[in-house]
Amino acid sequence: MISFQNGRYMTYTEDGKLMEVPSIDEICDAIKIRVRQAEEREESAVKAMEELREEKWKDNQLQQMKNELEMLRKDYYRGFPISEQGQNNINNWQDNHWITQHNAPNLETRLNLMGAIGGSFKYEFIPTSIGIIGRCICSSCKNKARKNAEEIVNKNDFSSTRDYEKALKTKIQHLEKKYDAEYTFQDI
Ligand SMILES: [Zn+2]
Repeated sequence: MISFQNGRYMTYTEDGKLMEVPSIDEICDAIKIRVRQAEEREESAVKAMEELREEKWKDNQLQQMKNELEMLRKDYYRGFPISEQGQNNINNWQDNHWITQHNAPNLETRLNLMGAIGGSFKYEFIPTSIGIIGRCICSSCKNKARKNAEEIVNKNDFSSTRDYEKALKTKIQHLEKKYDAEYTFQDI
């Protein structure tokens, strides 16, 4: 119930207090503020939801990338890879091998030798239960080690073939080491 007192419209609140009836402008302003507050709350709620969605998307992307990486890693190892560090080590070893074992310091002498000895280095990958062992081998020096060992170790000096083969094997290994015939670049 509204009454007009001393030039002001008055009314009672729910708990019985007398209050001035606000002007239409004041009421409109109050409603506008309420609406704006509600809009702001909604905006921040939408933003939070988008952020959550984004986070979830990033998590999914990350997981997917991890899975792909794992698959690539498996493929990589199935293909008998040589790591960059491994390749650098191999290059250094080969360079040193050419110089010390074949007296071939440059490309020209190396190419000549490659023609003469038929090829140069070969690679050997041995899969084991814990990983892959990788070796680079100079076929020429490996053959030389066997040939020389067979010349040095005399079959007649041994009472059994088994003893002879054992001694021959030891000699071959010894000469292979001497000629630096192979290089293990990966041993895991
Ligand atoms: Zn060699």
